[in-house]
Amino acid sequence: MEKTFVMLKPDAVQRGLVGEITSRFERKGLRLAGAKMIWLKDSQLDEHYSQYLGKEFFPRLKEFMGACPVLAMVWEGKDAVKVVRTLCGLTNGREALPGTIRGDYGMSLQCNLVHASDSLQTAEREISRFFAKEELFAYGDALSEYRYAKDER
Ligand code: ADP
Repeated sequence: MEKTFVMLKPDAVQRGLVGEITSRFERKGLRLAGAKMIWLKDSQLDEHYSQYLGKEFFPRLKEFMGACPVLAMVWEGKDAVKVVRTLCGLTNGREALPGTIRGDYGMSLQCNLVHASDSLQTAEREISRFFAKEELFAYGDALSEYRYAKDER
């Protein structure tokens, strides 16, 4: 099954929304393959947001993301990358649709609660950046036949 990388940002941690947000992924039918709290180092932030190096908001974004620990997770499921991005909603909380995480809980472009990999390639890169192999768990899905039809498993 496809895996994707998710990070609950400092605003989610500070606002006590970790449980709310995580439960959305669980209820959707995604499965947790790994989770840990980390305090992002300067070098990790530079690497994770390297595409925005030079943008005026880059220092602000780094300051925000490094201000307190985040919850890094790997979620698994069919088309997990796309499904998680849909659950998160548009980047700007003010534009994200109600029913999405950012649409329901946020008012900000920067403080938008959650990071989710934007492609399969990115997911593979981000998972290996933040998780060692032994920190990811493969375990039987007792409800698989109720989550997916035979041809979807
Ligand atoms: P997404 O997280 O939806 O994939 P992007 O990859 O475009 O969005 O941006 C990464 C993160 O950088 C966003 O989630 C947001 O926290 C922050 N960000 C993006 N654009 C801005 C901006 N103009 N000002 C401040 N923060 C921004």
